[in-house]
Amino acid sequence: MPIINRIAEFHDDMTAWRRDFHQHPELNFQEVRTSGIVADKLREFGCDEVITGIATTGVVGVIRGRGEGGAIGLRADMDALPIHEESGVPHASLTPGVMHACGHDGHTAMLLGAARYLAETRNFSGTAYMIFQPAEEMGGGGEVMVKEGLFERFPMDRVFGLHNWPGAPEGTFLWRVGPVMAAVADIRITVTGKGAHGAMPHQGNDPIVIASQIVTAFQSIVARNVEPVEAGVITIGKIEGGMAFNVIPEVVNLRGTARWYSPEVGDILENKVRSLATGIAAAYGAEAEVHFDRMYPATINEETSTGLAAEAARAVAGEAKVQLLPKPTMGGEDFSFMLNAKDGAYLMLGAGRTPEDPQVHHPRYDFNDTVLPLGASWWATMVERQLPRRG
Ligand SMILES: [Zn+2]
Ligand SMILES: [Zn+2]
Repeated sequence: MPIINRIAEFHDDMTAWRRDFHQHPELNFQEVRTSGIVADKLREFGCDEVITGIATTGVVGVIRGRGEGGAIGLRADMDALPIHEESGVPHASLTPGVMHACGHDGHTAMLLGAARYLAETRNFSGTAYMIFQPAEEMGGGGEVMVKEGLFERFPMDRVFGLHNWPGAPEGTFLWRVGPVMAAVADIRITVTGKGAHGAMPHQGNDPIVIASQIVTAFQSIVARNVEPVEAGVITIGKIEGGMAFNVIPEVVNLRGTARWYSPEVGDILENKVRSLATGIAAAYGAEAEVHFDRMYPATINEETSTGLAAEAARAVAGEAKVQLLPKPTMGGEDFSFMLNAKDGAYLMLGAGRTPEDPQVHHPRYDFNDTVLPLGASWWATMVERQLPRRG
């Protein structure tokens, strides 16, 4: 069973929906227009129930099959990014500074395509939940949906997510058991010393020198404290302090991120960031205030669910186009909150036209509409295979 024929028939519709979402991108928890269209379409397709307002702008469409059976959840994200689009495509963003640079417009269109097909055909028993979440990029919309009782209100056996991946060839599915995306922390450190004339440093306490030592010391954390076969990253991406070439400032701010998979490594990174920053500052008679805010946990694929997802991908794309993702990435993904609460899996759908294609979060990125029927067919096939029709 390749791409489902009925779904291929509305490739043009899905493309039009996707481009409309692309022209009207909305940031986290502000997906009012997008979620309104999603809810209207789900109703129009004949979903049994359409629930709105979960996690502010989240939507769940309920599609019941023929007779009793299990239940699975299919999840897409709807939010855009604060990036100014430079793609030059005719359907480019009409909102300056906001853009669908991660392809969530495509994810939403694919899941709508699957919903339309499933509501129309109902070749399954049990219940399929179409989950449209807000605020994947920065707001943790997945976490809010879970906290607002997603899995209690809509009891399901498993939940699945899919992300387009321009770095992999068009039409390939990539799967992996265990970690696929990393846990993410936001690090903010304020080093407070004492300002002085640049020519009279002995009268001050230079926070630039102290901050520099802190950044340098952080390089030893992964190298010397994390077990070599485990993964971890600490990056300081921003140093801010000082106004003039001849003035020692009072304060320096550092901003960075930490990434890891195992909770033990996360604890090591946090403890060492805190102790090195405060200890080094104290040794110089200064002060460091450290914030280590954990944003997303690691995205961990459960084994049986991953097998089911890969099997559905083989049915849709063919054996040769379903590949093991050789390594997890250190990117973050808030579907992790759903996978923390429920068995499930998160796959990548290759969307690269050429190896030079702009990657996600790039101002020239644009979702590859060719893969829309593939993703929608994968969603629908998962429902039909995991919830086989009994009646
Ligand atoms: Zn993204
Ligand atoms: Zn994304």
